[in-house]
Amino acid sequence: MSTTVQDRVTTKTSNTAADARKSEPDAHGVILSEKPADRIETTTCYMCACRCGIKVYLKDGKVRYIEGNRDHPVNKGVLCGKGSAGIMQHYSPARLKAPLLRVGPRGSGEFKEISWEEALQTATSWLAKVRADDPRKLAFFTGRDQSQSLTGWWAIKYGTPNYAAHGGFCSVNMAAAGLYTFGGSFWEFGEPDWDHTKYFMLFGVAEDHSSNPIKIGLGKLKARGAKIVSINPVRTGYNAVADEWVGIRPGTDGAFVGALIHELLRTQRIDIDYLVRYTNAPWLVIEAPGAADHGLFVRDEKGNALAFDKRSNALTPAEGPDVVPQLSGLVKLPDGRTAIPVFQKIAERYLTDAYSPETAEKQCGVPAAAIRRYADELAKVAFEQTITLDVPWTDIHGRRHEKMVGRPVAMHAMRGISAHSNGFQTCRLIHILQILLGSIDCPGGFRYKPPYPKEIAPRVKPTGKPGQVKAGEPLPGPHLGFPMAPGDLLIDDAGTPQRIDKAYSWDAPLAAHGLMHMVITNAALGDPYPIDTLFMYMANMSWNSSMNIRDTLKYLTDKNPETGEYKIPRIIYSDAYYSEMVPYADLILPDTTYLERWDCISMLDRPISEPDAACDAIRHPIVEPDRDVRGFQSVLLDLGARLKLPGLVKEDGSPQFPGGYADYLVNHERAPGIGPLAGWRGNGDTFGKGAPNSNQLNRYIANGGFHAHHIPPSQRYFKHANKEYLDWAASVGFRAADAKMTFQLYCEPLQAFRLAAEGHGPVQPPENHRERIAKYFDPLPFWYEPFEGTMVDTGKFPMHAITQRPMHMYHSWGSQNAWLRQITGQNRLYLSRARGKELGIADDDWVWISSHLGRVRCQVRLMDGVNDQTAWTWNAIGKRKGAWGLSEDAPEATRGFLLNHLISELLPAKGGGYRYSNSDPITGQAAWYDLRVNIEKAAPEAVEHSEPRFEPFDDPIGRGHPDSISYGAEFKRARR
Ligand code: SF4
Repeated sequence: MSTTVQDRVTTKTSNTAADARKSEPDAHGVILSEKPADRIETTTCYMCACRCGIKVYLKDGKVRYIEGNRDHPVNKGVLCGKGSAGIMQHYSPARLKAPLLRVGPRGSGEFKEISWEEALQTATSWLAKVRADDPRKLAFFTGRDQSQSLTGWWAIKYGTPNYAAHGGFCSVNMAAAGLYTFGGSFWEFGEPDWDHTKYFMLFGVAEDHSSNPIKIGLGKLKARGAKIVSINPVRTGYNAVADEWVGIRPGTDGAFVGALIHELLRTQRIDIDYLVRYTNAPWLVIEAPGAADHGLFVRDEKGNALAFDKRSNALTPAEGPDVVPQLSGLVKLPDGRTAIPVFQKIAERYLTDAYSPETAEKQCGVPAAAIRRYADELAKVAFEQTITLDVPWTDIHGRRHEKMVGRPVAMHAMRGISAHSNGFQTCRLIHILQILLGSIDCPGGFRYKPPYPKEIAPRVKPTGKPGQVKAGEPLPGPHLGFPMAPGDLLIDDAGTPQRIDKAYSWDAPLAAHGLMHMVITNAALGDPYPIDTLFMYMANMSWNSSMNIRDTLKYLTDKNPETGEYKIPRIIYSDAYYSEMVPYADLILPDTTYLERWDCISMLDRPISEPDAACDAIRHPIVEPDRDVRGFQSVLLDLGARLKLPGLVKEDGSPQFPGGYADYLVNHERAPGIGPLAGWRGNGDTFGKGAPNSNQLNRYIANGGFHAHHIPPSQRYFKHANKEYLDWAASVGFRAADAKMTFQLYCEPLQAFRLAAEGHGPVQPPENHRERIAKYFDPLPFWYEPFEGTMVDTGKFPMHAITQRPMHMYHSWGSQNAWLRQITGQNRLYLSRARGKELGIADDDWVWISSHLGRVRCQVRLMDGVNDQTAWTWNAIGKRKGAWGLSEDAPEATRGFLLNHLISELLPAKGGGYRYSNSDPITGQAAWYDLRVNIEKAAPEAVEHSEPRFEPFDDPIGRGHPDSISYGAEFKRARR
């Protein structure tokens, strides 16, 4: 690979040079349009996770202006406030300037600057020792970065089982529920059919989620007059432009959705044909309470699930082409056992009074009559306003269909659903609702984005069982996967977790994204074992990314009384900014900004695909770093080579990717012909599979930083059952050719865990876990009250408290941005006017908000449009003094606050004293929104400020905290 970062920085792209308007005088000598830039580069925004295409105008080597790229598949030219404020992210005073080595106690912020060579040698010596001794003692976790296919691969080669990204504290409930049910998911895996949907339900979506794509989509719906119904305790952002707002009580969406299902079943308005064609509704479930096979599917000797065919009056493989299945009634099996179809189990579950609208009203606060009306509206649109596209297609059995017929009802959900301890099952309920209406991947419904759909569930198992982790050797498989039975768990014979975060143990069996929120606590407590080195990237775990901040800081600084060594002996951290996490690390590897480095939004990870096109993208260096910083991904490759990790060095021991991340992007092959980038492979004409192409990155840059492979019309819908699409997806490596794609309304793997809890099978949970596994691993989804509400005194903590990010900010990145801070520099606690009146609280009053863990002092704002039992605030605005280059009197540090101080990472002790993590019991997803609180007016203080307060960080290396920041005046002067 000959292209280096330096080469790229000095290369002017020819395709965008034409965009720089001419500055020559016209015929009259008048300059009508001044040339705005010396060059214009197209790349990918990184001010949030949407990954829009941007054009960056550069003058005199500086960023002058950012605009949206009209040709880009994600945003089509739309740019949000965050995206345009990327300039101030790039020039932030909080940027780290050089590698740092801690010289004072942890938390003091006392560092000395060191050279990169010293930093890399230090990291290599620490990591080499751990790898040679016990690779488990490295915990490598990353935050909201977009290079997980690289970081995960690196961790495999290193050999530690302790790797994951931030998904465990973000939305793994959403991902896992979707992947175990229909091989896709909300968020990056799919989206509503914005061009055809007529009725759109939005569950728990905050202002910034899927930012530009949702705004563009909602605009389309509004223009066509489609109805938008938002279900959310707070009516802001997207919810404020919905036609109807359902101000639900937090954590009760599952009760609401269960009642919608009840009504659709009661009124017999479901898509039976769709259920028969695409789902396991006809599959027979063994009815033998107490037996080892109770609740499993009836299967033939080849393992095929069976249905009862009414035409042949016999058992038959359920996924055959011409089955006319029995959907209800008891079936006598040849061996004398009995079985019933999944559909009957669904009817029995959801037609009971437990799911009636009246029951749901008591649970979620939505009137029963309204629930009935929403169910009626959904059914009317789905079944009386079908969409028909005159596009022939061929199904998986080879049958040709002349038209694509769809139910124009779409749904979208996000963290408001998933960040609860009932999030997995709630999300499954939403998917059951979508499927009963026949609205997955049909015209007007929810649509997969390639490479989805995947096999249900994806055929990859987690690695890290005893015997799989060996000193000095790579891990024999991927860290994260999809257990189908207890035998897939990462536990020893006594049931002890093998990962530091306890993922894939009885605590969180389907922890498909790990439990990053538990790493620091578990490591400091040595539960299940102590570690040596914590290596993190882009994760502010000492502040707004952790629960229970005070104890987290204690865990980061606790020392072993016998040795005097920190309980987490070494912490390596990489970030571009001086966040609150920096002072708690020992070695800092300073990252670049997103305009200074290579990045890859890969088909191997979470690409930027649209339903009609498989798309991936890059970022490339367009500004030369003015500091001694390096892109983390290149640093990781360098470290891997120094550690001599397999795949990272050549046979002669020299680095495999001497050109850093750009070299890796072009030349790494995960499988023969499959690399990080799918476009322009081979001789430049190949998509998906093909030999590395040394010109590939130039092709991406010339094309605006992305590649789009358009899918022909005949493959665009029913992708889970569309032969042409599935054959093509197999040919480019998106799926195995024999992948099973039948929607799993009834989730048999959950029953396998439940059977183990009931005493069956070789791998069973220890006694103290049995009741919990048996209860929550229900193969049909159900609603239950989130855990915190059942474990604390709700008389003492009657209110719910939740957070969301403002539309103009993303995590803590945005709330330190000089332009965006001017929109929101202080967050408030929002309450309904009725609740304020009841508590004697007025606008701008200071209050104490308390939970079972602690209390926070903050300022209130009253509003309409919030559930009466709910308080909420903007997340990640509150900052610690001395961090982020902010001045000591910055409102973020004096009046801003975080609810994280109130949220415990562990649930209160239950029988036997064991404390589970504050997470979903199935996936381990952090239950941020289960929080229960009390609010009371605070006594006035002479100088009002938020609590708790922490010691300001020192500034020994002269970063400075500028009082005012301005940018761009030089461009104005140049114009005069
Ligand atoms: S939505 Fe996100 S990725 Fe798109 S322009 Fe805004 S900040 Fe950038």
